[in-house]
Amino acid sequence: MIKSAVFPGSFDPITRGHESVIRRALPLFDEVYVAVGVNTEKKSYFTIEQRLAFIKQVFADEPKIKVTQYEGLTVEYCKNVNAKYLLRGLRTSADFEFERSIGQINKKLNPEIETVFFLTDPQYTSLNSSIVRDILRHGGDASQFVPDQIKL
Ligand code: ADP
Repeated sequence: MIKSAVFPGSFDPITRGHESVIRRALPLFDEVYVAVGVNTEKKSYFTIEQRLAFIKQVFADEPKIKVTQYEGLTVEYCKNVNAKYLLRGLRTSADFEFERSIGQINKKLNPEIETVFFLTDPQYTSLNSSIVRDILRHGGDASQFVPDQIKL
């Protein structure tokens, strides 16, 4: 049986922090769905097409990675693609509190799905997509914060 995991997020845009978590997850699973959650109520900076294209560029040479989009409950999406593992990254204690609550509720919603947490690599602890968006809005150079393959 194939062991599949879903790494869900907004990826607006994907950062080196996301990339690092995804690459570290690869040896543990046969396939990893990098799944962009579509939230119709939240205005994103990059369109869904751009966000998917960025992620595909980064993992073009990695056959285990599937780049997808989904709407609705993450655990439902996991079930639809037959993934028993949901991946999340932890940067700070604030992340932990937020993720603990979601993880415990997701477990209630579907006890068959296990959330797996990756501690961030220390150099990416202060990195998030919203900082990258702020830099871009103000005309700055965010290239050191996003994967090498991405030209913003
Ligand atoms: P969301 O909108 O669900 O917060 P994000 O795209 O911001 O989605 O993040 C998706 C996942 O990646 C989350 O688990 C988040 O904690 C993790 N993540 C984001 N930035 C980093 C980082 N710099 N290092 C490690 N994990 C990260």
